[in-house]
Amino acid sequence: MPTDATPVVYIAGCGHSGSTLLALLLDSHPEIACVGETAVKPKIRRRGDSASATCSCGRTIGECPFWTAVFAQARVLGEDLGPERWANDYRFEQPLAQRALNRLCNTTRGRDLVRWAADHVPGYRGRVAAIDTANVAFIRAILHAQGARVFADTSKRTPRLVHMLRVPELDMKLLHLVRDVRGYAASAKKRGMSPVDAARTWYRDQTTIADVARAYPQVPFHRVRYEEMCADPVTTLRNVYAFCGVSRIDPPTAVDATAHHVLGNNMRMGGAIRVRVDDSWKTRLDAEELRQVLAIAGSLNRELGFG
Ligand SMILES: [Zn+2]
Repeated sequence: MPTDATPVVYIAGCGHSGSTLLALLLDSHPEIACVGETAVKPKIRRRGDSASATCSCGRTIGECPFWTAVFAQARVLGEDLGPERWANDYRFEQPLAQRALNRLCNTTRGRDLVRWAADHVPGYRGRVAAIDTANVAFIRAILHAQGARVFADTSKRTPRLVHMLRVPELDMKLLHLVRDVRGYAASAKKRGMSPVDAARTWYRDQTTIADVARAYPQVPFHRVRYEEMCADPVTTLRNVYAFCGVSRIDPPTAVDATAHHVLGNNMRMGGAIRVRVDDSWKTRLDAEELRQVLAIAGSLNRELGFG
């Protein structure tokens, strides 16, 4: 790895596990820059709508001065990025191709194959090399715009992590953000989804992250439990700052989303957010659902520290 490699902390985990909150908390540290997710979703891009997607500051990406500065700096670095051009995103815009990539990245052999293809298969190799270069420029442009030195990426997805771990210009660390499976399943139920399917997704994602961490023992690893982050943000963030290698400051216990430029789910739009524990799962899941969820993921949940 070159000595001038850019420090990146990659937040891996399921969606709806507090990553947007963590993004806002991380971005509050002056030495860390975090924009949440690192591209507008392909679904929105396919509609040609990405410039009108909203930033947490309340403006559209096309109008937000922060994003305007980031894209201008990326052009200085030689990359043509913009509100309609997210050349830093490894995802395919074609949903079937993306589904195949996701599935491959859920197994050790699949991840090895993706890594090998990125270095050897003509066509895919060229595609990935172009995204690698655009992504490094994107990250450096954000650090420049923020005056920060550590980039935190809350994209969460394994395929992006698998690709970024091969890039010599990035000095990667892995932060595993995990929520109690019962809370995760209850949150899925609240959104109209099956708690049992949610437990399966949770189980698959946690085992995938553990496998990736084992495959890269040289990559520093730190785990944050969502519930602990909410119950004791000060201690949790002090440990996260130490892991990120940034100076020790007093962590915030509330964040104003509009003071940041974060892309992510809708909770970011609420203005001031007080960090608090959401334990509504205790009443949202009925006894049978709770039994099914724990039958799928109970032992791993306990291993991860959820009693
Ligand atoms: Zn903004």
